[in-house]
Amino acid sequence: MTIQVGQDTARTRREIASGGKTLAYYSIPAAQEAGLGDFSRLPASLKVVLENMLRFEDGGRTVSVDDIKAFAEWATNGGRNPREIAYRPARVLMQDFTGVPAVVDLAAMRDGIVALGGDPKKINPLNPVDLVIDHSVMIDEFGNPRAFRVNVEREYERNIERYTFLKWGQKAFDNFRVVPPGTGICHQVNLEYLAQTVWTDTDQNGVEVAYPDTLVGTDSHTTMINGLAVLGWGVGGIEAEAAMLGQPISMLIPEVVGFELTGEMVEGATATDLVLKVVKMLRDKGVVGKFVEFFGEGLDRLPLADRATIANMAPEYGATCGFFPIDDETLRYLRVTGRSEERIALVEAYAKENGLWRGPDYRPVYTDTLHLDMSEIVPAISGPKRPQDYVPLDRAAEEFLQVVADYRGVDMSLPAKDMAAEGPAGGAPAVIDPRKSQPVKGQDYALRDGSIVIASITSCTNTSNPYVMIGAGLVARKARERGLTRKPWVKTSLAPGSQVVSEYLEAAGLQQDLDALGFNLVGYGCTTCIGNSGPIAPELSEAIAEGELMAVSVLSGNRNFEGRISPDVRANYLASPPLVVAYAIAGDMNVDLTRDPIGHDPEGKPVYLKDIWPSTQEIAELVEKTVTREAFQKKYADVFKGDEKWQSVQTTDSLTYDWPPESTYIRNPPYFQGMSPEPGVISDVEGARILAILGDMVTTDHISPAGSFKPDTPAGKYLLERGVQPRDFNSYGSRRGNHEVMMRGTFANIRIRNEMLTGVEGGFTKGPDGQVVPIFDAAMAWKERGVPLVVIAGEQYGAGSSRDWAAKGTALLGVKAVIAESFERIHRSNLVGMGVIPFEFMNGQNRKSLGLTGDETISIRGLAGDLRPQQTVKGVIGRPDGSTEEFDLRCRIDTEVEIDYVRNGGVLHYVLRGLARAS
Ligand code: SF4
Repeated sequence: MTIQVGQDTARTRREIASGGKTLAYYSIPAAQEAGLGDFSRLPASLKVVLENMLRFEDGGRTVSVDDIKAFAEWATNGGRNPREIAYRPARVLMQDFTGVPAVVDLAAMRDGIVALGGDPKKINPLNPVDLVIDHSVMIDEFGNPRAFRVNVEREYERNIERYTFLKWGQKAFDNFRVVPPGTGICHQVNLEYLAQTVWTDTDQNGVEVAYPDTLVGTDSHTTMINGLAVLGWGVGGIEAEAAMLGQPISMLIPEVVGFELTGEMVEGATATDLVLKVVKMLRDKGVVGKFVEFFGEGLDRLPLADRATIANMAPEYGATCGFFPIDDETLRYLRVTGRSEERIALVEAYAKENGLWRGPDYRPVYTDTLHLDMSEIVPAISGPKRPQDYVPLDRAAEEFLQVVADYRGVDMSLPAKDMAAEGPAGGAPAVIDPRKSQPVKGQDYALRDGSIVIASITSCTNTSNPYVMIGAGLVARKARERGLTRKPWVKTSLAPGSQVVSEYLEAAGLQQDLDALGFNLVGYGCTTCIGNSGPIAPELSEAIAEGELMAVSVLSGNRNFEGRISPDVRANYLASPPLVVAYAIAGDMNVDLTRDPIGHDPEGKPVYLKDIWPSTQEIAELVEKTVTREAFQKKYADVFKGDEKWQSVQTTDSLTYDWPPESTYIRNPPYFQGMSPEPGVISDVEGARILAILGDMVTTDHISPAGSFKPDTPAGKYLLERGVQPRDFNSYGSRRGNHEVMMRGTFANIRIRNEMLTGVEGGFTKGPDGQVVPIFDAAMAWKERGVPLVVIAGEQYGAGSSRDWAAKGTALLGVKAVIAESFERIHRSNLVGMGVIPFEFMNGQNRKSLGLTGDETISIRGLAGDLRPQQTVKGVIGRPDGSTEEFDLRCRIDTEVEIDYVRNGGVLHYVLRGLARAS
């Protein structure tokens, strides 16, 4: 790869010698010597961005000397200077759910540029792109030695069209690599192999340049890599496509919140417990749109794996990233994971030379600080709905009972522990016990509110952390020694984020203990974490539905929004892998793991969690013995090669994609068809109808679910009409290469609530004739009538994962504007990237204060003409009785370039027109 460095007006380019070589680099101390300001007390995370400015300074076309000076002003201004800058990450990371649509868009752009008379070879990623196929494996089979093989076979059966397409993309596009299925999870592969902490490349003059490794990814948890001092965060697929096509990312110089860690974790607490506490603290603080940087003497005792777990959950605490500066532990991890000694030496030399090293005196200026003494961390879980719903383990059963009471509308006061002893069959219920139970057909047990039907060791958040994985194995070993096993209604699974995990679990002899409790390997991929938990036994599903039970999942994941994990489960708890094993044994959320027996041994003696909980020392010793440099080097030696199945996938060598007309996975999207060479204009919205009125915290999962769907949904009907059987529907996430499915899946989450309807859950609305219909059907009916649409929402609209389909689907349904109280950062930018304009209510007004019912028309005036970023415009409500009411709206097109995007119909149209003109 060649990078195009800037003109370096301030002459900050220097040389660094490392590993017997001399490389160029852009020096922050040199910028200071050149009189651009005092940068010495900037946080390391911000110095990474500053270096980017030095390297790409081009006289102000995109980066100016004033942009560089602004960083010094940030430090003297108490950690604030929200100046807009153009930032260029070194590379892009994708997973297959978001990567397939990105490659579909690239392929469609090749068709588009041909139609505009341009050269298809102009459409290529200009920055390195790695796509890891990890999101598609589903847990069809579990709890037996066949599980892995069967799930992989089903994965290929379901996804062969997508995989064929990706293999074509790998050949057709330059700078694009694919990590095949069954290798690992994107963030863990990035952490263990792809990331280098300091990157090198040749510039346009052929000189090798060293610079901080940085990236954006099409997955929100790209942030995990900040644990390895690599600045990275998730962006929408649309922004990522722009970045890979050479467009800088427009951002404000962020505020940086310093999070000081002191003390040491006590016996029994895990990294997961720590991160759940960090999430809670940072959510309470409010760090949306900010960098968080960890510092303090506690870092000296925090292994990199724990740092990565904390960095992973940045989206859950709302920050752009959670960065850990380079220090001795960074170097140790690079070494143990098999990076070359030459690279490790460069990382150390570069970090020390350019002021990025965290030594004992590291204490930069922060916008604000928080402090946590790690000795206060206690075992905890989070749930039932949000990652920040932190519950200390000793209160989990009691609080769950209240959750059930709220669900059932029961006012009760009996302590949970008195009832927990009754066991899952319910026994004789106490009068005020809010829990219901339901016998399971063909089984000698009943399920009740709180029965755990899914216990999954899943998610790169935790599977990248050998301490919690070994910890889980040891809990399984000790439970097995006491003759315990999982409860028969629990679907257990183990889905590591890389093959290295299996290597060390095998080496420690722990896999067989996990197998004995049903935690057999089900695949190397996201599985339960992304909602691919697969079906539970039909009789369990039936009992849950009949009893309208609050069934529970416990997973070592990072997200637990309603409807994400399984359609059968209402309450989802995040927990460390060892606790997942413990809950599988208990089988019931009503069991207080800190006081009640977790089970009974064959002699009938009670066994408590403390009896089977490993010591910190036991875990550390096994990690030391089994997690080795050799294991990483062996497992990553052929990372791009794949197994026989991958190697036998057949593709063509064509420059443009030959779209198979019968494919229900990959279709040529309509975005660029019939596109004119010149951009259009932004016009007012007149007489739009409301497609949905949504509440607060509507997530991208609500807007564009990733999980499975049923035959009676619009997406299901579309596939049935094309001869696809329900068992082959796969998930929305895996069908993101087909806009027809995705439009039908937009706003189709089974738990979304449209306030236009009462007592209805799921993706429904009123059609033009006033009847209740699926949102897709209503949108198409309005489209036929030529009526534009708007969506109304509450606070934090578009929270959760970065999901470009949440914006693409919205645009394709004919929605011109989304009016919300506030937006999640990435989703706002994705809406703009698709030409849908986001607006915010002003003056404390909202859907409720304006009395919106959904029967009104909405007009938005002041857009036509010379629209400015964040301009205030007029909304006009037309009520059914003929009256009108005006209200103010802030247009959330935030920058000049975003205005250009909207004028062009979206960012990809903007890039495509530019490339067509250039060719
Ligand atoms: S395991 Fe979960 S957090 Fe990690 S990439 Fe997959 S879905 Fe995202």
